[in-house]
Amino acid sequence: MVKIVVDTNVCIGCGLCVHDCPMHVYELKDGRSRVANPDDCMMCLSCHEICPANAIEHQDIYLSRRLYIDLEVCSMLRRFV
Ligand code: SF4
Ligand code: SF4
Repeated sequence: MVKIVVDTNVCIGCGLCVHDCPMHVYELKDGRSRVANPDDCMMCLSCHEICPANAIEHQDIYLSRRLYIDLEVCSMLRRFV
């Protein structure tokens, strides 16, 4: 099981990870993101790239191992490459 940590001290509660995660791993609670379903994570790392506060950490997952990149993140990456 992957360990996912949201730093609630820096999360601004924007909800982007909740909206963007294809596996519905996150939920908003008390104005902050919370990891609700860590077992469903498929290691795409889209949440990492979309979080404006850099508040999300996955242990032992690297970009080179990602399995899926959603369209919203692809369009965001195109702005930089
Ligand atoms: S890595 Fe992908 S599946 Fe896992 S929590 Fe982030 S957006 Fe969801
Ligand atoms: S995308 Fe980042 S800042 Fe926004 S709710 Fe998720 S963890 Fe918090």
